[in-house]
Amino acid sequence: MQDLTEGVARFQREVFPAKAGLFTHLAANHTPHTLFIGCSDARVVPELITQGEPGELFVIRTAGNLVPAYTPGANGVTASIEYAVSVLGVSDIVICGHSACGAMTALAEDQDLTGAPTVAEWLRHADAAVARTAGMAAGPEKVGALVRQNVYAQLTNLTTHPSVARALAEKKVTLHGWVFDIPTGRVEALDLTGTGAALAA
Ligand SMILES: [Zn+2]
Repeated sequence: MQDLTEGVARFQREVFPAKAGLFTHLAANHTPHTLFIGCSDARVVPELITQGEPGELFVIRTAGNLVPAYTPGANGVTASIEYAVSVLGVSDIVICGHSACGAMTALAEDQDLTGAPTVAEWLRHADAAVARTAGMAAGPEKVGALVRQNVYAQLTNLTTHPSVARALAEKKVTLHGWVFDIPTGRVEALDLTGTGAALAA
């Protein structure tokens, strides 16, 4: 915890004073423009990648940036999506995959996950992406393809959420698929033309 405590002290001493006005505004205003759904991976930091200020991104991070397709009943991902879209009224939703994703690597390499049964079960939400890359030989190329196909698959899952479906029908929200490349820092915007996500829009 040493580093975190020092970080908090440095934030209060060196960073916060320059943004004090912003935080005063944010204390009474929460109007993010974008719902950013990324992987929990420690190397993929939404605010750093986008250089967004506090208050700009409403963030959901899950293992493998997976978005389960809608089912009735409350869960954290669905509630957070609904809040961002229906209450906060975000105008854009980004689903961001990334290179060297542990979740996608596990699937691409068909790793034994018996020691992490909940992870194994959770990763089933990427079944469609796995199916699309089933014919490829294991290796980095397959991981890369799966990362991309997974962003498409999760965008499709996203459109099954009623809050998103309604916002798309009313043309109030635009969907985006990104892939972040860790070694170069590049962000690739995927072409959604012809995908379910684009058709829904
Ligand atoms: Zn990941």
